[in-house]
Amino acid sequence: MKGLRVLVTGGASGIGAATARRFAQEGAGVVVLDRDATAEFACVEADLSDDASVRAAVAAAAGRLGGLDVLVNNAGIGAVGDVTANPDEEWHRVYDVNVLGIVRTTRAALPHLRDSGRGAIVNTCSIAAWTGIPQRALYSTTKGAVQALTLAMAADHLHDGIRVNCVNPGTADTPWVRRLLDAAEDPEAERAALQARQPTGRLVSAEEVAHAIVHLADPRSSATTGVVLAVDGGMHSLRVPAR
Ligand code: NAD
Repeated sequence: MKGLRVLVTGGASGIGAATARRFAQEGAGVVVLDRDATAEFACVEADLSDDASVRAAVAAAAGRLGGLDVLVNNAGIGAVGDVTANPDEEWHRVYDVNVLGIVRTTRAALPHLRDSGRGAIVNTCSIAAWTGIPQRALYSTTKGAVQALTLAMAADHLHDGIRVNCVNPGTADTPWVRRLLDAAEDPEAERAALQARQPTGRLVSAEEVAHAIVHLADPRSSATTGVVLAVDGGMHSLRVPAR
């Protein structure tokens, strides 16, 4: 990993911050792209829904690192409710960040990843892409698109020498989920319900997701492309009740 040049979106918090930290520990050069500044890592500020700011930020990151080998498209936002719950504008807003955000960063990063010779993209998707989770119609739709986009990009850029994979986390203990729990009527009961949904009986940690992302991005995973890797304590594939 020494000398690997890595850009992580959404790296100011949660899974993105844990990922940036892991890459740095492994000896990689890391820049974080986020709408919020972070003092922990070198950071380029941009809003994924603004193409010009994304292009400028990716160029600044590549300039700083002297190129790019790895793009981690991790940033995303949530939405709650069934298919009737959100107006069209909200569907556009969330899709704009969760899906077009990946399109924008990837478009800007591709020339650098092609030059790398060991280019890799890892998208943070969700088990919501392949499991029906109640009250997540809009969010799940965007993540279904992220999973399909991952495979399409893996096919299109195979001969550019760029591998493209995604991770599908189960519910992970991040500031995002803690905010949701804090807003619940009974946060303790809500946490217990989320934990019970996962066969392991606990939430996934940001570090566990980061480990999977780093593994997929690692140049030694050179035969791994077009893979959807669950990091969900068995939630998607097992029928084992939590103890
Ligand atoms: P988080 O809210 O803790 O961190 C998300 C980061 O993305 C923040 O730093 C935020 O500023 C940044 N961000 C959001 N919108 C942005 C924008 N428009 N432009 C630039 N930066 C933006 O969230 P997290 O839980 O670490 O989630 C990270 C990813 O993991 C998301 O894509 C999410 O959908 C996915 N995910 C999370 C869980 C979970 O349970 N936490 C489960 C499955 C998938």
